[in-house]
Amino acid sequence: MKIAIISDIHSNLPALEAVLASIDREGCEQIYCLGDVVGYGAHPNEVIELLISQQIPTVLGNHDAAVLGRVDLNNLNAFARLAIMWTEQVLSADHKRWLSHLPILRTIPEALIVHSSPLEPENWDYIFTLSEAKRAFPHFNEKFCFIGHTHFPQFFSDSVSGKKIVNVGSVGQPRDRDPRACYIIFYPLSREFQWVRVDYDVERAIASIVSSGLPPFLGDRLRRGT
Ligand code: ZN
Repeated sequence: MKIAIISDIHSNLPALEAVLASIDREGCEQIYCLGDVVGYGAHPNEVIELLISQQIPTVLGNHDAAVLGRVDLNNLNAFARLAIMWTEQVLSADHKRWLSHLPILRTIPEALIVHSSPLEPENWDYIFTLSEAKRAFPHFNEKFCFIGHTHFPQFFSDSVSGKKIVNVGSVGQPRDRDPRACYIIFYPLSREFQWVRVDYDVERAIASIVSSGLPPFLGDRLRRGT
């Protein structure tokens, strides 16, 4: 069994299209999405339409929750806040309704999936370090917990239980200085996983951000992968 896990698309349609083509080439049987479908990029409706048409089970991210008015915008940086307000205006009522029905977590074969952390997931805490991961290990029973949120592909292993927390990286706004889109292929039967990096048309994503009136910084950072 071969599963693809994607996260943090952030309204980047060219990146999502390239990742879905890669997943198709890899022959994955199922795709899951860890949220932050919208925010930052210029194609929120198109991205949601694609997830709906491919019937990709998705969990809620903090930017998705922010568009729904469930997150205090003061907790976001200025660029994120502007992008949320822009997204809230252009998103169709149907797509807002789709976001509003996303669960906060899901179990999949051998794993839990959640956007930020299995520990109080709606606090949207970040897991960047082993000590942060250690606090989260007792809060899931599966062998794996796949997360997104930091846009940083990394994994943590619990030496006692053998459980793993794996950050799948970001499709639409990588921040590890590699501008290529990132996702994970997970083999639940052998309990193995691998990150996949995918080139995509970054300039097309940037041009859409600029022409839609979003801050140009949100395009520039895609070129840098930061
Ligand atoms: Zn994100």
